[in-house]
Amino acid sequence: MQASLPFRSLIRIFEVNLEDFCTRCEKYSSELDISRSFIRIFAEMNVIDSITAGTGTAFSFEVLPPLKGTGIDSLFRTVEELREFNPRYINITTHRSEYVYQESPEGVFHKVSLRRRPGTVAVAAAIKNRYDINVVPHILCSGFTREETEYVLLDLQFLGITDLLLLRGDKAKHESAFTPTGNGYSHAIELQAQVNRFNEGFFSDGSPIKEPGRPFTYGVACYPEKHEESPNMEMDIHWLKEKVKAGAQYAVTQLFYDNEKYFRFVERARAEGIDIPIIPGIKPLKTARQLNVIPKTFKVDIPQALATEVLKCKNDEEVRQVGVEWCTAQCKELIAHGVPSIHFYAMAATDSVKQVAKEIY
Ligand code: FAD
Repeated sequence: MQASLPFRSLIRIFEVNLEDFCTRCEKYSSELDISRSFIRIFAEMNVIDSITAGTGTAFSFEVLPPLKGTGIDSLFRTVEELREFNPRYINITTHRSEYVYQESPEGVFHKVSLRRRPGTVAVAAAIKNRYDINVVPHILCSGFTREETEYVLLDLQFLGITDLLLLRGDKAKHESAFTPTGNGYSHAIELQAQVNRFNEGFFSDGSPIKEPGRPFTYGVACYPEKHEESPNMEMDIHWLKEKVKAGAQYAVTQLFYDNEKYFRFVERARAEGIDIPIIPGIKPLKTARQLNVIPKTFKVDIPQALATEVLKCKNDEEVRQVGVEWCTAQCKELIAHGVPSIHFYAMAATDSVKQVAKEIY
């Protein structure tokens, strides 16, 4: 029997023999049915269990909610394309409101608050319901009060979504330094405390939750090249350790292009007693412009060997190919080192991510 790509990986993950399995599962009429039932198994697991279940390297993909007013169809198409690689879960980013100036018909400019990509909770629920894939919405301090966060937690619990990635979020574009919104938080660890209290059955004002639902589990962010605001790596790792003590079950890294930095970071974290999975975050480079934009935006270095190859390219299609090759080599090395899972930043790079995933699946 010739098994399809996603199905082969399911067999690998669960270490089952295809012939035996098919004989035992007579109720399944086709490979697709069996494949769907495996995906459902992952959908019912939380992130930490789905990473550690079975053998082989797990994949996850991160997507953005659609731009306000653009509809969800294109995002669904992306998820359909990525589904082939049997993701253990899909992350959905969150974006705070920003102040922008809008011109009225009279030519007067007004400062208005705009959320360019709303809908994280709804997008998460839509993906989960439509594709039976586990989802991980991002929850931010940035731009949200405690009450707003609480309402989001209630919505998510009603929807049966209990895996979260808890983050501080970046400062607003008009700010020179991060400022909490209203009674909101300065750091992810404070958001963790609110979620922990919610899990224990209390709202943020201390009042009891009459009927607490299924508790949330969560991961946090970390930075192999150090967070931009941290005075040094020691301090950054110190705060990561605190986030672990506060209940983070795993950490996902900022994107990086130099595996050595990731390996060194994991080594240092382990030396400090941080024992949770540290999931590498990967994004293929796509355009020559990104040589400057990525270091500026994400505060990470582009290795000289990659920069040199990009500069040799005659157009962005060639750059895209270089990005795919670099990223594939990165992933192969990470897998050879036994990473538990690879997290792909799929936004605006779905084609490249698919190419990489095909090479390593
Ligand atoms: P924190 O953990 O609060 O850390 C921020 C800085 O403060 C670090 O320098 C840390 O060392 C220090 N620190 C931590 N705790 C304390 C403390 N208690 N006291 C003093 N200092 C402390 N941004 C978005 O807006 N939306 C997203 O959806 C999003 N998704 C992301 C996903 C991943 C996997 C990653 C890696 C980043 C993501 N970001 C997102 C970006 C992230 O929000 C920013 O990098 C933000 O600046 C820091 O978030 P954090 O959760 O790491 O913050």
